[in-house]
Amino acid sequence: MSKNLSKIAKTKKIKYFLISFVDLFGVLRSKLVPTRAISEMQENGAGFAGFATWLDMTPADTDMFAIPDPDSLIQLPWNKEVGWLASDLWMGGNPVKASPRVMLKEQIKKLSTKNLIMKSGVECEYFLITPDGTKISDEKDVQAKPCYDQSALMRRYDLIKEICDSMIELGWNPYQNDHEDANGQFEMNWDYSECLITADRHVFFKFMVKSLAEKHGLRATFMPKPFENLTGNGCHAHISLWDRKENKFLETGEKLGLSRMAYNFLGGVMKCAPALSAFFNPTINSYRRINAPPTKSGASWSPSSISYSGNNRTHMIRIPDPGRFELRLMDGATNPYLLQAGVIAAGIYGLNNKIDPGEPLRCNMYTEYKKYPDLKKLPEKIEDSLNELNNSKEIREAFGEDTINSFIKLKKMEIEEFNKVETFDKTRKITDWERKNTLDC
Ligand SMILES: [Mg+2]
Repeated sequence: MSKNLSKIAKTKKIKYFLISFVDLFGVLRSKLVPTRAISEMQENGAGFAGFATWLDMTPADTDMFAIPDPDSLIQLPWNKEVGWLASDLWMGGNPVKASPRVMLKEQIKKLSTKNLIMKSGVECEYFLITPDGTKISDEKDVQAKPCYDQSALMRRYDLIKEICDSMIELGWNPYQNDHEDANGQFEMNWDYSECLITADRHVFFKFMVKSLAEKHGLRATFMPKPFENLTGNGCHAHISLWDRKENKFLETGEKLGLSRMAYNFLGGVMKCAPALSAFFNPTINSYRRINAPPTKSGASWSPSSISYSGNNRTHMIRIPDPGRFELRLMDGATNPYLLQAGVIAAGIYGLNNKIDPGEPLRCNMYTEYKKYPDLKKLPEKIEDSLNELNNSKEIREAFGEDTINSFIKLKKMEIEEFNKVETFDKTRKITDWERKNTLDC
């Protein structure tokens, strides 16, 4: 018997629920439902017109229903009257296959047939900017190498503390907050979990950071590259596979502390990286962050080629410690569910086909890339990654033809809109279109 939201509302004094979902473009959408109606909604879902969101539907389609997952409930730390719920989309009595949370649950199910679960943690970088979105909010934050700048961090103490206190209250076990490598950029880390929990928290974290920044008279952006000369917003993920008790990626004594299973999984992720870039780097602006020239701080901290290494941040995959790897390809615009779903899909392909990733590279990839002309490069623009996705047998098979076709169709519509008014050229300034359409991603 699942948790009874109506009873929980009484105990926790919740007056309203946000029944929310994320569409294919990562937009968080909700209905605000008074507690008096929550029993009915828990059973049958909240109704939405799918066409009004970024899902591949028509105005003639029947209503789509968001059925909340009571396990995902988060009482807003800054407004306790409201409870937030992630939900799964249903239509005509069936789950909506081309919807992100359903896509992730499908991949989790496939992994479970191997008696495995994926655990993951995400590092969501963001900028604090002025409300009009034109510049960073702290005029004193001007160091050429601003990473870990204590004074700049403490000038944002009130906001960072409120976000971190909220995570403590929610039981996420946050453990560090810092100023990142760009002026105005921050990162906050909390414990890893099973990947569905991490995905829900990732969605909520972005909502929380944006909401609390607004409360403090600021604006938070996760836009992949909001300023040409500064490091972009990455969203690195740390990945491991477990059975119920053990980390199956861990092999003590192996040179990087990884098992054969981990290498095969990682090999699958490398093989599918160009196609998955469409999920991991989903905006036009994303391609200013990967394949980027060095920034004011000296490094972009983002990958250009498909390679892996030990504890070396110049590669797409880093193995910082035994028993896990860090994938550094994703940016702040990545859809939290498609991030996790994409990794599992590619990883399963790697496991099933025993993909060997070869030997790790030890070089500084930012300076020595010319020595490795045969390495496959990451896509240069969104059209390239959509072509890779379109041609990827592996990813099509993992998610189904219709789902991938829907995603590509919607993305192409967006690119058409952009091309009507702009041309993508990363040697030129970030366009108004990118700002308008990506600042609040
Ligand atoms: Mg970082």
